[in-house]
Amino acid sequence: MIVVLTGAPGAGKGTQADLIEEKLGLRKVSTGDALRKHVRMGTEIGKVAGALMADGKLVPDDVLFEILKAEFGQRDGEKILLDGYPRNVEQAKTLQTLGERHPVKAVIHLDVSKNQLIERLTGRRVCSNCGKSFHVSFDPPRKEGVCDACGGDLTQRPDDRSDKVAVRLDVYESQTAPVLDYYKEMGLYQKIDGSGEQVEVFKKIEELIKRVAM
Ligand code: AMP
Repeated sequence: MIVVLTGAPGAGKGTQADLIEEKLGLRKVSTGDALRKHVRMGTEIGKVAGALMADGKLVPDDVLFEILKAEFGQRDGEKILLDGYPRNVEQAKTLQTLGERHPVKAVIHLDVSKNQLIERLTGRRVCSNCGKSFHVSFDPPRKEGVCDACGGDLTQRPDDRSDKVAVRLDVYESQTAPVLDYYKEMGLYQKIDGSGEQVEVFKKIEELIKRVAM
């Protein structure tokens, strides 16, 4: 079964997805992570995706379907936490076609105000070596520009620059927000306030997943 974690860029999906994987045992499938891996490895998919991602735009649906098939594998009954997919209604319909093996049990929307999203995204810094995330104001490293965990250089994701953040939020509003209505009609939609502390947000998600999907 699948639990979909959705929300605007910067809502905290990645952080919460890691906690859900670690503490509740669902396997995290992040389409953003999978695409970034292709870009790093320089695959054909990576070549198509790289420029679009850096611009904050969506990668074509057929590429995402390939990613999804590869990530899901063939095991029936596996509990999957899907982070970053579906990003439009077409993708949501595609996900339904996998319904027999992988039914969607719940769609959790992490809701965060636009101002907070912009603040979170533009201040984010990521370790170029181990991938750990920091924030220049809310979670700064001990030494500026250096990862606490491994000493690697902290960099800004190209799509976290303020002009690209604006594009990503527009794409979210126009293409991803309608997905929420799609799932409301199916009775799967669950909203969680994502504005508080990470642990508090996680507690609410945990309670919800245990109630509706375990
Ligand atoms: P994320 O890490 O989820 O913020 O994704 C980073 C970028 O990867 C997005 O801005 C898109 O360019 C691309 N991406 C990730 N998931 C999808 C998807 N489901 N559909 C299209 N593009 C995606």
